[in-house]
Amino acid sequence: MICPSMQILELIARGALFVVNHSAGKDSQAMLIWLRVFGIPDDQLLLIHADLGEVEWPGNIEHIQSTAPDLPLVIARPRRSLLEMVEDRGMFPSPQQRQCTSDLKRGPIEREIRRFLKANPRFNGLVVNCMGMRAEESPSRAKATRFRFNPRNSKAGREWYDWLPIFDLTVGEVLRMIFAAGQAPHWAYYAGMTRLSCCFCIMASKADLTTAAGLMRSLYRTYVELEQRVGHTLSMSRQTLPQITGIAA
Ligand code: SF4
Repeated sequence: MICPSMQILELIARGALFVVNHSAGKDSQAMLIWLRVFGIPDDQLLLIHADLGEVEWPGNIEHIQSTAPDLPLVIARPRRSLLEMVEDRGMFPSPQQRQCTSDLKRGPIEREIRRFLKANPRFNGLVVNCMGMRAEESPSRAKATRFRFNPRNSKAGREWYDWLPIFDLTVGEVLRMIFAAGQAPHWAYYAGMTRLSCCFCIMASKADLTTAAGLMRSLYRTYVELEQRVGHTLSMSRQTLPQITGIAA
């Protein structure tokens, strides 16, 4: 159950820009549906997708556009790709540090928000950055703050808030919300994936890695060769991808 917040209603009335961090995953999709039902006006909504290039699922941008064709979409691109980052560092990011998230997603998205606010003075620098994290996802996610003022980004005339609109939803509620809106989730879920974003995530389950290896053979080979070249594994278990999936490159 989501409690409508007086602060959010006030921010809508003040004309804030609501940025939807959209990965093309089911949580982002449900979050956008929920925000529109909640009453965020379309002219105060902006979608931003952090494009992970070759390591993300094909069709992500098309999926976002097909489920929200009437809203503006900004594509945020990182300065270097995830594979380049691994090559440079000689190791994969760890789930604890998650340098991939900060360099490939958070940093580029925040840069695009700053640019958009500067180019659109009607928002007076007032922004609510909406993310689709849910408490159910993990014990650490459950400790996240639903709504907060962000002092780090509230500079140079900006007033910046971070909001997790669907924090309390279960995965079942997320999927029901998508279908009730007459939409369908990204194709990769139908192919067996439980999570989206990078095809091969440092935090993915054995089942998801195995499914992705079967679906994305060429990219899988690239990851296996990268593991061999840098002498470091994608998985924190220190097992190589072929050991985890049982699939040879
Ligand atoms: S999906 Fe996984 S590997 Fe990709 S950026 Fe996010 S945490 Fe890192």
